Amino acid sequence: MNDAARSTKLFAFDNSYARMPERFYSRLSPTPVGRPQLIRLNQALAAELGLDAAALASPEGVEVLAGNRVADGSEPLAQAYAGHQFGGFVPQLGDGRAILLGEVVDRSGRRRDIQLKGSGPTPYSRRGDGRAALGPVLREFIVSEAMAALGIPTTRSLAAVATGEFVLREDALPGAVLTRVAASHIRVGTFQFFAVRRDVDAIRALADHVIGRHYPEAANAANPYRAMLDAVIARQADLVARWLGVGFIHGVMNTDNMSIAGETIDYGPCAFMDAYHPSTVFSSIDANGRYAYANQPQIAQWNLARLTETLLPLLGETEDERMASGQAAIMAFGGLFEAAYSGVMRAKLGLSEPKAGDLDLAHGLLDLMAASRADMTLTFRALAQAVDDPVADAVVAQSFTDQGAFAEWALKWRGRLALEAVSPEAQKQLMTSANPAFIPRNHLVEEAIAHAVRDGDFGPFETLVDVLARPFDEQPGRERHQLPPRPEEEVKQTFCGT
Ligand code: AMP
Ligand code: MG
Repeated sequence: MNDAARSTKLFAFDNSYARMPERFYSRLSPTPVGRPQLIRLNQALAAELGLDAAALASPEGVEVLAGNRVADGSEPLAQAYAGHQFGGFVPQLGDGRAILLGEVVDRSGRRRDIQLKGSGPTPYSRRGDGRAALGPVLREFIVSEAMAALGIPTTRSLAAVATGEFVLREDALPGAVLTRVAASHIRVGTFQFFAVRRDVDAIRALADHVIGRHYPEAANAANPYRAMLDAVIARQADLVARWLGVGFIHGVMNTDNMSIAGETIDYGPCAFMDAYHPSTVFSSIDANGRYAYANQPQIAQWNLARLTETLLPLLGETEDERMASGQAAIMAFGGLFEAAYSGVMRAKLGLSEPKAGDLDLAHGLLDLMAASRADMTLTFRALAQAVDDPVADAVVAQSFTDQGAFAEWALKWRGRLALEAVSPEAQKQLMTSANPAFIPRNHLVEEAIAHAVRDGDFGPFETLVDVLARPFDEQPGRERHQLPPRPEEEVKQTFCGT
């Protein structure tokens, strides 16, 4: 299928997925590209992974990151998976434009996948070309790295390489390859792939792999598979709560885009809200708002119910036992999510000690923000800056059309803050580390992409990535990156752009 040259010791690969049964994947190498050119190498991530950044940025390293050369120890493969897309089941999806090069164990002992995305056709490409356009590659790089800096579990971006080739979408667009790093690329849809084939042996083998790799503590439980399921559900509840805390909308929460390890994965038409409103949708392909901001918890639970179904054969001796176990697991999601979300919102309001009514207090503010279409990030950041200075409430009030209603809310908030045993300095510290100054605002992401795609100018991309690496710090001179879009800059729709 290709003729990528071998060699180069860049990664200390140890490939556990390649030791899984043959029906889990197809082995093949990436397809070489015309003129690979490094756009950006993530130095900090390379260091975290124990990789030699200089070697990766060398011509030979860039050939590996472009898929023109297969590194020593790599056992490249495309993973098989299925998935519910917008509620409809597709029994075979799989890595149609991605190839897992292998796994490395990072400096803290965590096993991480090294995957190329946009690396050419695979047996799972269906009608696709296996390639990625530069714009979506830059978008994933920017947003995934911003997520990581915000402290939200996510796949990472190690490198972006321009291919020197065009990909045909509606127009001919410059192509690129992203090197994605993940705890693993096992998805809800990976379990579904085997469930629809009634391959219980494969489900058991996959679950055992997941337990060993992501949830080792589950191995000691009475039923390790139930314990694994509980752990996956808890991680997803926590993940979605964190998304809501920063105004993130994934955009395509299909079961094939939900990671078993609990990382945010697959940055397609995702976006961060500027003005707060729970019904916000950006994705051009989400006409019914299935994946709207406030729907994300329910959708996560729906996806996890699909995961639960695949695991039923492993959840008990009798049919009744299995159903009861699966139901109990999925029913726990609501409480887990509420606890996680309360924690997120409490920190955003500067509260360290849980008290009844905290979530109502948060909703009181969010409702006012929705009514005023207040900028979510700026409002919370202004609140953080006002926490030790009630006079500054007047500044925050400017975000609201009904300033009186905000003043009333602020009074309640200050009453609640007064119940805390924590100093105002500590409250401010908590709030400034929970309320970012910088998020990857859509108009800035689009601007960075436009400069790169139209003019080959990666300056705005580089600047944006650097600014977003320190989202909680005030960065003098970067005020423009903090501001919401002017009306004419506003991006109302995002595209899958595959
Ligand atoms: P996504 O919407 O990116 O989650 O992708 C859904 C499915 O379509 C996955 O199986 C992808 O591998 C596949 N896919 C997306 N874009 C392409 C492409 N350009 N070529 C081949 N397969 C693709
Ligand atoms: Mg996907």
